[in-house]
Amino acid sequence: MAAARQGLELERQRYQELFEFAPDGYLVTSANLGIQEANHAAETLLNVRRDRLVGKPLSIFVASEDRDAFHLQQQGLGEGQQIKDWEVRLQPRDRKPFPAAIAVSTIYDSQGQVVGWRWLIRDLTGRKRSDQTRQQLEQERELSKLKSRFINTVSHEYRTPLNVIHASAELLEKRAHHMSEEKKSLLLQKIQVSGQYMNRLLDDVLIYSQAESGELKYSAALIDLELFCKGLIAEHQFSNGSKHAINFTRQGKSPSTCLDARLLRQILDNLLTNALKYSPPNGAVNMELNCESDKITFRIRDQGIGIPPEDQHRLFEPFYRAKNVKTLPGTGLGLAIVKKAVEVLEGAITVESEVGVGTTFTVILPIKNWVKDKNKKPEIIAMQ
Ligand code: ADP
Repeated sequence: MAAARQGLELERQRYQELFEFAPDGYLVTSANLGIQEANHAAETLLNVRRDRLVGKPLSIFVASEDRDAFHLQQQGLGEGQQIKDWEVRLQPRDRKPFPAAIAVSTIYDSQGQVVGWRWLIRDLTGRKRSDQTRQQLEQERELSKLKSRFINTVSHEYRTPLNVIHASAELLEKRAHHMSEEKKSLLLQKIQVSGQYMNRLLDDVLIYSQAESGELKYSAALIDLELFCKGLIAEHQFSNGSKHAINFTRQGKSPSTCLDARLLRQILDNLLTNALKYSPPNGAVNMELNCESDKITFRIRDQGIGIPPEDQHRLFEPFYRAKNVKTLPGTGLGLAIVKKAVEVLEGAITVESEVGVGTTFTVILPIKNWVKDKNKKPEIIAMQ
C-alpha cells in the first residue's frame, strides 16, 4: 500500500516536473478563465510572477486587437468546441505583444462536468521571423533571377546591332572609295537603325526597372488625343517605310483630356510597334479611339501571326515571348511596360487573338481629374 502511494507520488512529481520545465507555456484556468496554475515558461512569456498570475483573468493577457476574437473562442469552448493551433497576439506585462499559438484541453470532474481548461501557449515570434526571412530570401532570389534575365537579354539583343554597326563602319572605313553613294548611305542607315534599336532597348530596361520600383509617376497634361494618335501613327509609318497601312478611326466627342503623355506614349507606341512587327507587310493595322464621358478606349487591331491561346495569359510578364515569334526580334519587355503604365493610369488592358488571323489589344483608361494642382494650367500636348 505504502509502495503504491510512493509510486503515485513519484508519478505526480514526474508530471509536475514535466509541467514545470516544459519549453512551452502551460496554464490551468477555472471554467470562467481565472488563472489557477502556471508553469515557468508561462511566467516568462507573460512577464508576471506566478503568484501574481494566479487569480487573474486570462483575457487581460490577450492583446486588445485580438480580444473580441478571444471572447468568441471562449464562447466556442463553452459550447464544447476544440481550440487547436489558434493564433492570437498575447500581451505580456510591460512588453510588446507577441504572436502565439494556443491549444486548449478541457478538465472534467468525476461527474463529467467541465471544471477548467489547460492552455498550451507556444511563442511564434521566432517562426514568424523565419517566415519573414524566408519571404525576403524568396524576393531576393526572384530579383536576382530577374536581374540575370535582364543581363542575358540585353547582352544577347545588343550583339546583333553592335555587329551590324561594327561591320558597316569597317566597310565604310576600308572600302568607301569603291562604293556607290547609294551603298554608303545604306550602310549609314544600318548604323543609325542599329543605334536606335540599342537606345530603345536601353530605354525599355530603364523604364521597366523604374516601374518595378514604383518610380513611374503620373504627370498630367492636356492632350489632344486625336492629334496624339495621328502623330504617333505618322512616326511609325515613317520609320516603317510605309510597308503597312495604319488606319485611324475616332468615335465620341471632344478628344482633349488630361493624361500623362509619356505613359500614354509608352502604351500606344509599344502596341503599334508590335502590331506592325507581328504582321505581314500588306496586313492592315487599325487604331481606334473612342472617347466617352468617363473613359477613353484605344483599340489596336492587326491581321498578323496572332498569339497561341496558351501564351496569351503570360504576355505581360517581363521577357515572355510567345512560341510563334520565330526569328522576329524582341525582348519581351514591351508589354510588361505597357501593363505597368496602364496600372499607373488605373486602367485596364485586354487581348483577343487568333493564330493566323490577328490580334486586338484594348486599353481602357478612366477619365479622372488628374491635375492635382488646380491653379496650375496643364500644358497642352499634341505629340511628345
Ligand atoms: P517583344 O519585344 O517580344 O515584342 P512584347 O513584350 O512587346 O515583347 O510582347 C511579348 C510577346 O507578345 C511577343 O514576343 C509576342 O509573342 C506577343 N505579341 C505581342 N503583340 C503581338 C501582336 N500584335 N501579334 C502577335 N504577337 C504579339
